[in-house]
Amino acid sequence: MLTEKPTVRVIGTGGSIAGIGPDRMDFILYPELGNHITIKQSLDRVPEIQEIADVRSEDLVSVGSTAIGAAEWLNLAQRINEIFQDEPDVAGVAITHGTATLEETSYFLHLTVKSPKPVVITGAMRPPTALSTDADINLLDAVRTAACPDSAGLGVLTVLNNEIQCGRDVTKASTFRVETFRPNELGFLGYADSDGKVVFYRAPLRRHTSNTPFMVDSITDLPRVDIVYSYAGADGLLVDAVRNNRSDGLVLAGFGGGTFPPAVIDAAVKLVDDGIPVVLSTRSTAGRVVTTPMKDKQGFIVSDNLLPQKARVLLMLGLTISKDRHELQQMFYDY
Ligand code: ASP
Repeated sequence: MLTEKPTVRVIGTGGSIAGIGPDRMDFILYPELGNHITIKQSLDRVPEIQEIADVRSEDLVSVGSTAIGAAEWLNLAQRINEIFQDEPDVAGVAITHGTATLEETSYFLHLTVKSPKPVVITGAMRPPTALSTDADINLLDAVRTAACPDSAGLGVLTVLNNEIQCGRDVTKASTFRVETFRPNELGFLGYADSDGKVVFYRAPLRRHTSNTPFMVDSITDLPRVDIVYSYAGADGLLVDAVRNNRSDGLVLAGFGGGTFPPAVIDAAVKLVDDGIPVVLSTRSTAGRVVTTPMKDKQGFIVSDNLLPQKARVLLMLGLTISKDRHELQQMFYDY
């Protein structure tokens, strides 16, 4: 009996998964050369994908993900929302993306895509021109996961190295390893596995996709939010620079559970007094930053367990809705 294949939309954005190196031994020079194959060429390398899904593909941009920011996040979210609205036959969307900022794009889309249908982002640690590239298998796994009905309702997913992760929690943890994407302490969600099956063991509980108030379909720009990293002996210079340049918000990456050099906090209090929301996060790679009576009195927001770069994404989106500290704080507890 012939069963109909699901339709998957594949959107290319560039990155190592589309990178072209000078030879098979090149694992590091190709990003500086900046050459990419198209998403159609990526798909042509893996004809087996046609057995899994009917694929319609398009290139949104063709850049390293070091060049991706708010404009590309908005384009992607708007395009995905348009696809789900205009093409009801589409089962899911797979996206190829550089690994450098994949974790930020994945969280942005996790909060702004307005459909329960699967959206799956993948990348590669070794370009298609390199020995033992992971580009082809990751693309196949992304299409497989986007085509799988069990992937629906879990928010935006990432898949690399056969591991399916939550777009909120995933972070790039290693410079060159193919297993670089880690969910910190929280565990990944499932596998796109060697027997061709997509299997899940857990689901994200924080609110996402249609269950958030973030509507970006008619937005053309996002508020500016900067991150300042703490280190032993840091003074207030960088926080003052943020204040002088009128950012819309600031994320501070502090120590451990949310402590900071005194001069950094003094400078940040001035920013809060100016009405600029400041979120306290940590440079530790896992765990929560919690509030205290002092932090509360000073007017700070705490990041819960979001890494600084994830907290920045949420603050940018939160500021499209409110500048109120308590409302923003609640978002860090909800999303
Ligand atoms: N330079 C690449 C990027 O676009 C790195 C990668 O994809 O792994 O992020």
